[in-house]
Amino acid sequence: MKGFNPEDFQILIVDGTNNNFQSILPMLEKMGYEIAFAHNERQMLEAVEKKQPDLIWIDLANQKVDGLKIGRILNNNPEHCQIPLIFLTANREQEALIETFDRGIVDSLNKPLEELEALTCIKTHLKLKRNRDEMQKAYTELEKLVNTDPLTEVANRRALLLFGEREFERARRYRQSFSVLTIDIDRFKQINDTYGHDIGDRVLIYMTQIVTKSLRKADCFGRFGGEEFLAFLPQTLEDRAFQVAERIRNRIAKASLKVEEKIVTITVSIGIASYYPDDDSLDTILKRADLALYEAKERGRNQTIANIPVERSQLNLNEPLRIKGRSSSLPQNQQNNS
Ligand code: GH3
Ligand code: MG
Ligand code: MG
Repeated sequence: MKGFNPEDFQILIVDGTNNNFQSILPMLEKMGYEIAFAHNERQMLEAVEKKQPDLIWIDLANQKVDGLKIGRILNNNPEHCQIPLIFLTANREQEALIETFDRGIVDSLNKPLEELEALTCIKTHLKLKRNRDEMQKAYTELEKLVNTDPLTEVANRRALLLFGEREFERARRYRQSFSVLTIDIDRFKQINDTYGHDIGDRVLIYMTQIVTKSLRKADCFGRFGGEEFLAFLPQTLEDRAFQVAERIRNRIAKASLKVEEKIVTITVSIGIASYYPDDDSLDTILKRADLALYEAKERGRNQTIANIPVERSQLNLNEPLRIKGRSSSLPQNQQNNS
């Protein structure tokens, strides 16, 4: 673990006059801490946004600052709730202080300031904050690692299935729908055989970039395995999903990747299925999308097929879901129209 260096930390002091901190300020600055000041709530909140201080020290006697209110504001903000807040109080009123500790205030110091106690208190809370920040960073990196495909850096199978299960539960609870696209590169084995595995890898990366750019933020796209990808489109029915799929398919077909003087082009086949209220699991929907993909391959590749139950294909697609029965047959009217 890194040693403690005061120069790495910024302390924001909130005081109307600075008088109560005068005795300790020169010492803090000499030790290397970066000190910023705010004299009222507005200045303080601005400084928190702009400077991201590592610790805030508030004089409760400052009439222009409601310390408890500030504690509440910072505590409710996920970006700032980790900043330790220390109060400078005239006397230790136990009950009032207990209340403040519930609101993100980590410590209090008595007036007049006892220098050694204050320095130790600051250092302790800065160290604790740094440890928390480092743990949070490590956790975020780990979370990214377990959910990301290392080659293409899109979601991996685990992340896709987690998203899909959550989407399935949400659709069921709120009577909404969602669609899933299964996207498979056509004759990808030939790309590897012709250009080599490394260029095959670059094609996979390139293809994922095109798809990512074609989707909304709320969608989830990832690598299901090998050269097969999935995209979940929340609150989307087959007709809209079909448009999205066709946009992706056309963009990929038109794009070309230049590698070492060679121009590589690919096409993809896409299968679509949407959630229906009588679907009992995510797996049922994925199987339906897979059937559609299989059909797209059978019909000659480079096309999109939506697997719409017969009853629904006769409905206006914009109407709310009213399907009771189920058929896995593929619609006649959803052939490639590009
Ligand atoms: P189809 O149109 O029927 O999908 O034909 P295809 O050749 O794409 O399908 P097939 O399943 O026969 O082959 C898939 C190929 O994808 C074989 C495998 O070596 C290749 N592949 C899977 N993962 C990777 C990878 O990470 N990198 C590279 N370069 N190739 C991969
Ligand atoms: Mg393939
Ligand atoms: Mg495949």
